[in-house]
Amino acid sequence: MKALEEKIRREGQVRPGNILKVDAFLNHQMDIAFINEMGKEFRRLFSDRPINKILTIEASGIGIACIVAQYFQVPVVFAKKSQSVNLDGSIYTTKVASFTHKKVYDILVSKKFLGPEDHILIIDDFLANGCAVEGLIQLIGESGATLEGVGICIEKGFQKGGRELRKRGINLHSLAIIDSMSDNDLVFREEDV
Ligand code: 5GP
Repeated sequence: MKALEEKIRREGQVRPGNILKVDAFLNHQMDIAFINEMGKEFRRLFSDRPINKILTIEASGIGIACIVAQYFQVPVVFAKKSQSVNLDGSIYTTKVASFTHKKVYDILVSKKFLGPEDHILIIDDFLANGCAVEGLIQLIGESGATLEGVGICIEKGFQKGGRELRKRGINLHSLAIIDSMSDNDLVFREEDV
């Protein structure tokens, strides 16, 4: 999505440790008009899939997923992050390693909101090593739901997440893929969308 690439060039900041800050428009201050455009694009990319629910992970995925969901007319479920999980059989849970915070945490979704009848689109802001998406896929697998696709705003293509998901045949679309980044240079991949 060219408009997203231009916005990243204008408003993004590259930080040490391979972190791209896009808090001016995506995950702190949120540019709603622009996120609406991304919602329309996700709708176009996944229009052939029978999606009845969007799944994301707190915190920064939630706002984006809510806007995207309006174009699919479906509910959003977000996986909650927790330090300690009470295993009473009412939740699906797995562990996720955080790229930005360098720690492992539990994520969970209530069994009330995910089941074999569901056709899921995963939405998230970033794809780096793929741990967050992998955790969500695990919860979907446990629930018996069908994964219809994964929609990512910004994929860091120099990390392994995207490559591994595509290798497994997962229907992944990233609106912008960064192949390399440094303080004064961002290289975007031409293919995909
Ligand atoms: P992964 O689990 O794929 O390694 O990392 C994805 C998660 O880490 C995303 O949910 C996102 O919140 C965070 N993340 C990964 N890389 C970046 C980055 O460069 N910038 C920001 N702002 N978040 C990132």
